[in-house]
This record gives sequence, C-alpha cells and structure tokens, in this order.
Amino acid sequence: MDIETLDLSRELATFDQREGERIERMRASCVEAVPDPDRWLTEEVHPGIITARLDKVLNWARKWSVWPANFGLACCAFEMIAAAALRFDISRFGMELFRASPRQADLLIISGTVTWKMAPAVEMIYHQMASPKWIVAMGSCAISGGPFADSYSVVPGINRLLPVDVYVPGCPPRPESLYYGLFKLHEKISRDSMARS
Ligand code: SF4
Repeated sequence: MDIETLDLSRELATFDQREGERIERMRASCVEAVPDPDRWLTEEVHPGIITARLDKVLNWARKWSVWPANFGLACCAFEMIAAAALRFDISRFGMELFRASPRQADLLIISGTVTWKMAPAVEMIYHQMASPKWIVAMGSCAISGGPFADSYSVVPGINRLLPVDVYVPGCPPRPESLYYGLFKLHEKISRDSMARS
C-alpha cells in the first residue's frame, strides 16, 4: 500500500467515526416524541374576564344592527332604495333588514313628502316600533315640507309630529348623503347611556 492510499483510508475512518458519534448523540437525545405544536387546539380554553362598560357594549350592538322600517313616502324613497341596493350595499353596516313589521324595526327613515292625510299613518308606524327607536328625516320635504312647505296639504316638517334624530338635506339627497346621516346616527347611538333613560 503506498502512502497516499494509507492517508485516504485514515481520513475515511475518521469521517466514519465522527459520523457515528454524531448519530449516537442524536440517538441519546431523541428518546421522546417531539410535542405536537398544535395540541393547544384540543386543550380546554379557560374562561377569561373581559371588562367593558355595559353602555359601550349595548351601544356597539345597537349601532351595528339598526333595522329600518320598510317604509317610503315619495321620490326620496327611491334614493333610500338605491342606498340599500348592491352598488351602495347597506348590509355592510348591519342594516339590510328592512322590516315589513314596525314592531321589528328601530329606525324610521322619513323619505319623502308627508301629507296631513298620511300623517296619522306615519305616527302610528312610529308608535308601533320597538324602543329605543330613531328617526332620520330624509330630504327637504321631510325636513320642512320642501317645495310644498306652504301647501295646505303637506306637513311642514316631520318634526311637527315626531322627534327627529338626524336631518339629511337635499331634494332628493343621494344615497351617499343618506349614508352620512346614518353614520351621524351611529355616532349618536354610541354616545347613548342607560343612565339617561
Ligand atoms: S325632497 Fe325632493 S325628492 Fe324628496 S320627496 Fe321632496 S320633492 Fe321629492
């Protein structure tokens, strides 16, 4: 055997030894199964405590679940309908449930001209609604009678009959304006307190 071949076989033997030692170290240290990193999924969750003001929680829930009455009066009603349809999509704000029964609604959008002949019906719808309830006066007619303010047959503003929370001006106001009014109503609901009622 020449010198070069002898050196190579020694090197290989050292390499084999080092490899063997490494494997033995691994065998010695890997005696138990590695814990499942996702085992927390099956562990029982211990209930925690969340503290918040009851007012804040109630207002948050009310604000994102305002259900309008399914009710329209005149041309402004078409803008209200457009606000509910897919281009504007009122369901993004938890408001898509326009209720056919006033008993299941808490928002009355006065969307159009209120005539004195219609006034008792509007009033009755409001009184049938669940409390707490809110009113948005949409458009010049609902706010002040609009172009018919001096007419013998038109109510010069729904606030003569019912308490209005938000006024949305325009003739007619576009859906964006109605949305702005609804956001203002959300702000108002957020500031409400049970201590006041
Ligand atoms: S405010 Fe204008 S658009 Fe709205 S109901 Fe009156 S006349 Fe029609």
